[in-house]
Amino acid sequence: MTEYIPSKILEWQEAGSEPEYQSLSLADFAREFDCATRYLSRLLKVRPFVMYLLLFKRAYFEEGKRVISVKLSELGENLLSDIGKPMSHDVVRRGVNDLIRFNIVMKTPSRPGQVNEYEIRLPSEIREVQEMIQIDSERGEDVADTRFDDYYTDPQKRLEILKRDGYKCFYCLREVQRDTFYLDHLEPRTSGGQNFQTNLVCSCKSCNSKKNAADAATFLRDVYRQDLLTQDEFLVQKEKLNSLVEEYESLKKEDSEQRLRRVRK
Ligand SMILES: [Zn+2]
Repeated sequence: MTEYIPSKILEWQEAGSEPEYQSLSLADFAREFDCATRYLSRLLKVRPFVMYLLLFKRAYFEEGKRVISVKLSELGENLLSDIGKPMSHDVVRRGVNDLIRFNIVMKTPSRPGQVNEYEIRLPSEIREVQEMIQIDSERGEDVADTRFDDYYTDPQKRLEILKRDGYKCFYCLREVQRDTFYLDHLEPRTSGGQNFQTNLVCSCKSCNSKKNAADAATFLRDVYRQDLLTQDEFLVQKEKLNSLVEEYESLKKEDSEQRLRRVRK
């Protein structure tokens, strides 16, 4: 699988910064790539599958765009067909047409003489792939299950929380930077709070030191009462908080059930 990933990914990791994708983080990219090789490869014949990889790489890895202009004559020019000859334009076109027929790639209308534009859907957006993921997860082979990962101590994962919270303090919405943000445990660590992403929010220095082990909902209300948030902002944050807490509680339950099962074995 690594042979498809250009060495750029290492460069970016070393630089500690991610390329500017329209919507994909490095982790999402890796996950989507995994979905493509695991599931899409089962769904498609070799030719359309390879065409998809080329388009996917071009869209999300090179251009950071969902809709890209592609000259089919340039696609797959380094690939050989089954009989060892360079792929003909016709072969490439048929592969891409298969993708269009399966709604994996959408062709946007173009006038004669214009370069064609294609919208490249992500593997996880394809219904058949979702069904396969569902089946696998029911079998317990969950794909890249990050729900129980430690987002507190892993520097890369800390940044994912920062990104999720839009580079703002969750409580007062003040802007924070990657070198000035704190992570706050919704359920404090002293009460057994986990380092799951659903138990962590981004926080500014001031909120982090003021909140301490206080209840997150109470603290958010305090911040609102101090006029640091508008009513709308408060309601939005409160809603976000509720859904994080809800998800976190169900994860904790799942986690302790799994532990219990392991102990019984
Ligand atoms: Zn704050």
